[in-house]
Amino acid sequence: MSEFRRQLDRVADWIVRYRETIRERRVLPDVTPGQIRAKLPKTAPARGEPFEEILNDFDRVIAPGMTHWNHPRFFAYFTANNSEPSILAEALTAAIGAQCMSWQTSPAATELEQVVMEWLRSMLELPEKFAGVIQDTASTATLVAILMARERATNFRFKEEGVGAEGADRLRVYASEEAHSSIDKGVLLSGIGRKNLVKIPVDSQFALRQDALVEAVSADRKKGLIPACVIATVGTTGSTAVDPLPEIGKFCRDENIFLHVDAAFAGSAALLPELRHILNGVEFADAFLFNPHKWLYTNFDCTAFFVKDPDLLVKTCGITPEYLKTQYDPEVVNFRDWGLQLGRRFRALKLWFVLRSMGQEGIRARIREAIRLGGLFRKWVEDQGDFEILAPSPFSLVCFRYAPKGTDEMRRNMLNEKLLGDLNRTGKIYLSHTKLNGRFTLRLNASQERTTEEDVRRAWDLIRTTARRL
Ligand SMILES: *Cc1c(COP(=O)(O)O)cnc(C)c1O
Repeated sequence: MSEFRRQLDRVADWIVRYRETIRERRVLPDVTPGQIRAKLPKTAPARGEPFEEILNDFDRVIAPGMTHWNHPRFFAYFTANNSEPSILAEALTAAIGAQCMSWQTSPAATELEQVVMEWLRSMLELPEKFAGVIQDTASTATLVAILMARERATNFRFKEEGVGAEGADRLRVYASEEAHSSIDKGVLLSGIGRKNLVKIPVDSQFALRQDALVEAVSADRKKGLIPACVIATVGTTGSTAVDPLPEIGKFCRDENIFLHVDAAFAGSAALLPELRHILNGVEFADAFLFNPHKWLYTNFDCTAFFVKDPDLLVKTCGITPEYLKTQYDPEVVNFRDWGLQLGRRFRALKLWFVLRSMGQEGIRARIREAIRLGGLFRKWVEDQGDFEILAPSPFSLVCFRYAPKGTDEMRRNMLNEKLLGDLNRTGKIYLSHTKLNGRFTLRLNASQERTTEEDVRRAWDLIRTTARRL
């Protein structure tokens, strides 16, 4: 047996054992800043070291120093789900090690990406016109969408003339107060400027208020400003609120404003026929994204980005120096022109493995189970007098807090902040938080692929006993 073969077997053993015993691990590591660096040499070794030693150090120093995002009791943020087919595909991707910038540099990767994006488009019942491309993250896809909106609004002058272009200093972007920070980042990086991002107030369910959007756009038009882009969120990061997409969509169509829809987490839930309605109105969108790396069991990173008009995307991002020209250019798609970077990873393979291994029905069953577990946890919280629910739970996320009788808002904020720290320090579960209406809110999201009812039950028991000890 060759040495590489033996090493591969060792890695395979490690991966299998890791998955089998992950529940015995802490979710968050027990480390302080700098502790792991201090265990590692300051310079790289002069000569190669044996594989055994490297793997040992990985097992002894690195793995225990990781936060285990695929731990079944990882309830924080949104999940970064992987799965067995996805892990296998990532290994094959690494083996080939391709750079997929254009069709010729990666014909199968390019065409497989077109095929799996078309599969996703049809699974989500997006309009047939929509063309898909895989981006690394939602943040990147949203920046690209904002750049498309910027170029559409300035008739492609901004990219040529920069901030001095006609209208460049009057562009406005709108999103709700609960929209993700990647939108702020996209607006500041695009040159539009953060002061031109208008945050629209939300209603009691934390969804964008349509009347406030209409008012803001009309006020801006009166001032001679140029409403260039509206970003609607389906499943906000704080509480998974769903903005009123049909109303926003019709408004943007009538006003000729570029509409981008950020469904980073909740987009996957629209694969369920009973939840497809959350994407009603997406037919009005110019751009749409969701993250298979959150809730479609595909290793980070993988964002599915769809656009109604690929020509606008290519006119915004495309650039072809002499050394990148190929004889096939007139008849193929070169995905390097569909985003920010030139070099691209082969991400379609893991998505293909996942979609084929699980099938549409297998995926739907997993998503339904996550929503069932979230609903169960919500019910337990509702039935417990000294806890309260703080937002609707349309998916697998529950927003709640400890609210013992006779405590005021300030005290409740303090108690819940302390509760979160105490819970996460146990290493048994990992929750995160947000603020809703100024209230310190605990978030428990149950969309990890292998989370069981027993895991959620253990979390709830721990939350209650820890709260009582405060
Ligand atoms: C997670 C999230 C993002 C950011 O996703 P990345 O892929 O990490 O950039 C953007 N928008 C929403 C609504 C999210 O939940």
